[in-house]
Amino acid sequence: MGPIPEKPHAVCIPYPAQGHITPMLKLAKLLHYHGFYITFVNTHFNHNRLLRSGAISSLDSLPDFRFESIPDGLPPTDEDATQDIPSLCDSIAKNCLPPFGDLITKLNDPSSPTPMVSCIVSDGVMSFTLDAAKELQIPEVLFWTTSACGMMGYLHYQHLTERGIFPLKDASDLTNGYLDTPIDWISGMKNVRLRDLPTFLRTLDPKDIMFNYCNREAQRSSMGSAIILNTFDEFERFVLDAMASMLPPIYTIGPLSLLSRQITTGPLTSIISNLWKEDKTCLEWLQGREPGSVVYVNYGSITVMTNEQLIEFAWGLANSKHDFLWVIRPDLVKGDTAMLPQEFLNETKERGLLANWCPQEAVLSHPSIRVFLTHSGWNSMLESICGGVPVISWPFFAEQPTNCRYACTEWGIGMEIDNNVKRGDVERLVRELMVGEKGKEMRRRAVEWKESAIRATQPGGSSFQNFERLVKEALL
Ligand code: UDP
Repeated sequence: MGPIPEKPHAVCIPYPAQGHITPMLKLAKLLHYHGFYITFVNTHFNHNRLLRSGAISSLDSLPDFRFESIPDGLPPTDEDATQDIPSLCDSIAKNCLPPFGDLITKLNDPSSPTPMVSCIVSDGVMSFTLDAAKELQIPEVLFWTTSACGMMGYLHYQHLTERGIFPLKDASDLTNGYLDTPIDWISGMKNVRLRDLPTFLRTLDPKDIMFNYCNREAQRSSMGSAIILNTFDEFERFVLDAMASMLPPIYTIGPLSLLSRQITTGPLTSIISNLWKEDKTCLEWLQGREPGSVVYVNYGSITVMTNEQLIEFAWGLANSKHDFLWVIRPDLVKGDTAMLPQEFLNETKERGLLANWCPQEAVLSHPSIRVFLTHSGWNSMLESICGGVPVISWPFFAEQPTNCRYACTEWGIGMEIDNNVKRGDVERLVRELMVGEKGKEMRRRAVEWKESAIRATQPGGSSFQNFERLVKEALL
């Protein structure tokens, strides 16, 4: 009998933000469940936050699922607040390759107790990892945690430059209707306007950090040996078909929150990915509400707004007269803490719950939730689909406007609130989606998409099969 073969060893590295860490952790758990040894690489900053929030306290019991961390290159801080995204991107591009390369070299040292690293599963917007993979001759697959339609937008950033659309010519282009220009030259995408493409094009600065970062990452995505997307074929069929000729093999394995439900027991179930401590009272509070009676409001982990905007949302919710669960992250309001009028608090104390951070997936699957007012981050959109819940969309940045556009015009599950939010619009849209005819139709469509997502992630479904193919064809 020969020696027992080593486990395949995947190094998983997300972009250091909540909406990337969560789906990467789900993918890493699935790979572990299918026999992989996992090294999960966070930045020091997020690693410490995960420890503080209690998300990853029980690590020692898992010898074959290890967390490591590397510096992000930014000055250290202890704050539990979202890092500035342009500074983070800039720093990652300049600083992360050497420590990442050193980590892989350390893991592969003969004295290391870990199996040899057999593949790297990197976030699509951490493409410096490709350079380490090339040098160390390790195959690498890229996981884009965006929607396919969002990624398609980034893949066309280079065309925007070539067509002279980026950078904008005049500041008035932001307000004069120019952003409504139809974009009819992206195959697989119909009914989109310039304003529906990822927001980083909205600048006069040709050196804009975010535009150039995303453009470069999108261009480099064809250097990976495969692309993973957290979506499912039926949901984004046309855009996926068009992308197939532009990229290495694409594996659609979403929604990962459903696919990963095959892991029902074992120590991995206790590892979660919250950077903020969850407020457990949310689910108890929902238990006491009627089915289908609550509006859930949450803007994800990065969105910031002014206190004036917050107050418009507050009165819109109050005036709608519906029950609501409203998550206000401690760093949601720009440069300040959120200040809600006492009158609003008095008026809504019987029917509104305010929280800092909630277990969103569980909230969106709770029968009391009827509508989700969201910034339309991709994880939030998918979690809403998994709960069969229609959305009111208030996109903030990145590819959120693309997701919003698709929700409203393609998937039939959403309505948009103007960026310049007014209480009257909030009240009207909440009422329409809670009790109106359009709301009824959108709920029906959301439930249909939920059923389609369940089919995709069950044995025999497209995402289920694609995951198996991904493992065999690209990772083993
Ligand atoms: N999330 C959560 N609790 C909250 C707010 C957000 O668990 O109170 C999770 C949410 O379920 C999602 C992620 O944080 O998985 C946010 O990702 P998304 O892509 O929606 O938006 P981003 O934060 O990247 O803008």
